[in-house]
Amino acid sequence: MQSQKTHPQLFSFEFYPPKTEEGAANLQLVHSKLAKLNPDFFSVTFGAGGSTRDLTFTTVIEIQAKGIAAAPHLSCVASTKANIRAILKDYQDHGISKIVALRGDLPSGMMSAGEFRYANELVEFIRQETGDHFQIHVAAYPEIHPQAASGAEDFKNFKRKVAAGADAVITQYFYNAEAYFYFVDACEKSGITIPIVPGIMPITQYTQLFRFSEMCGADIPRWLRKRLESFGDDRESVQAFGLDVVSELCRRLLDGGAPGLHFYTMNQAAPTLAILENLK
Ligand code: FAD
Repeated sequence: MQSQKTHPQLFSFEFYPPKTEEGAANLQLVHSKLAKLNPDFFSVTFGAGGSTRDLTFTTVIEIQAKGIAAAPHLSCVASTKANIRAILKDYQDHGISKIVALRGDLPSGMMSAGEFRYANELVEFIRQETGDHFQIHVAAYPEIHPQAASGAEDFKNFKRKVAAGADAVITQYFYNAEAYFYFVDACEKSGITIPIVPGIMPITQYTQLFRFSEMCGADIPRWLRKRLESFGDDRESVQAFGLDVVSELCRRLLDGGAPGLHFYTMNQAAPTLAILENLK
């Protein structure tokens, strides 16, 4: 873990672009609370198949104008080279210098994958079009991407993104710290030294987390699932227990050399603030 430890600590918070006025007002409040922690950047997701393209753009520009860097997510599913080129130019013109480059997932019913098949092709295109302008973050899956043919194939594919010019990595969330440490070990054995920042999903309720984790291939260990299930509708107990578990996970990750944390905030400030308060 030596090379990961030498990176300066990187903290970032992820939002999704709000679709209603109420959601936008909430995000302003959440942003102002989290901005007090002076994170390295806020990132803003890009809806499946580009469904939030304009909303992502306006949210990113608004956040950047408030003084802390904003990093748009950009996915290649259903995109053409021409529209990715146009989006990159818009971001460059607005002083955006960080980007999270992803493949994305095809929304159900959509058949066309677009002109890019995988994230490594998008990273390569961004480098070709914009040189070193953007700091490019890519995704990684310490518990293996759900569509990967095997762990070995997935790792080979992950390395393509790094070779194409990624500067940093954000992982899918996980609750097994070992999965992260094994992944980082494999990276170091392959000579990958860019920061690999664990993605952290606070636990605030159970049903939605369970459904979402099934979809994206994040494992909820049996002991954790059983404990959360046993709280039933008692949301307060779920939150208190979830806070303990995730704070401990973050502590282990940082003590073990993780170069920072990226929080999937789900546009809520309190769960992330409580974890960071515990880590102080
Ligand atoms: P890739 O790296 O392209 O990998 C996808 C699959 O294809 C893997 O199984 C991989 O092994 C395989 N593969 C990769 N390259 C090749 C190749 N050259 N040849 C053959 N097989 C290959 N989704 C959104 O829609 N919007 C978002 O804003 C968003 N933000 C995210 C942020 C983070 C930090 C993470 C971890 C995920 C995010 N996602 C988002 C979800 C992501 O788009 C999905 O998990 C998607 O299924 C994979 O994206 P990827 O960039 O990792 O894809």
